[in-house]
Amino acid sequence: MIGNSEIIKSKNKFANKKDLMLIAGPCAVESFDQLYEVANHIKSLGVEYLRAGAFKPRTSPYSFQGLGKEGLEILKKVGTLLDMKTVTEVTSEKNLELVAEYCDIVQIGARNMQNFELLKPVGKIKKPVILKRGMGNTIKEWLLAAEYILSQGNYDVILCERGIKTFETATRNTLDISSVPVVKDLSFLPVIVDPSHACGNKKYVEALALASVAAGANGIMVEVHPNARKAKSDAQQQIGLSEYATLVRKIKAVYSATNTF
Ligand code: PEP
Ligand code: MN
Repeated sequence: MIGNSEIIKSKNKFANKKDLMLIAGPCAVESFDQLYEVANHIKSLGVEYLRAGAFKPRTSPYSFQGLGKEGLEILKKVGTLLDMKTVTEVTSEKNLELVAEYCDIVQIGARNMQNFELLKPVGKIKKPVILKRGMGNTIKEWLLAAEYILSQGNYDVILCERGIKTFETATRNTLDISSVPVVKDLSFLPVIVDPSHACGNKKYVEALALASVAAGANGIMVEVHPNARKAKSDAQQQIGLSEYATLVRKIKAVYSATNTF
């Protein structure tokens, strides 16, 4: 397996980073103004990566599907204006070249974790990849999905835990916090956590984010919206700008408290 070999230690750009990777932004690009407002705020907090979906994989075909190419253009424009790196999802091989051209990190969503015909070409692009864990997949299946990308020569894979389906219904998914230390035990790949999709409720995002940092996550990806009640997707789980500012302060405190020994 490449994921637990020395190749990752020497070639994965994120494997040896000391700093916590902070990624934030709205679920979806909705307009230039919406994205710029969030980006400008998170940039002032020292956040390096702006996330926002242009191609949205929605459970219902009647829900907002994202702005597509226009969304990518807005994302790139905002990223360039504010000198931020951008993260966005690719949902199909058809759009892979376009998505890879417009962003700095390509995201594979939970629903595509085992879309092997998408993972193989993603292994050939020259951009880092965030591979989200499938909601019904084991850690082993997740690591094997990563191998589909690594084995094609793209070593810059970042795993992202985003919660799995369990019998619990109080939260959208159940954050499998134990996957963080387990993945670190089984591979050298960096692992980040997305508490927003894990719980599906903005009330719980902070607690899960802080627990993830304490558990050793290499980064935290959070959905942030300037006016979440009006969001076109995932309105219940996106936190506001000031809530995110507080969260960043607490994340930094937990990170330094747990990384000084
Ligand atoms: C997302 O990050 O926008 C997303 C759709 O998440 P997931 O694939 O984890 O559901
Ligand atoms: Mn979302």
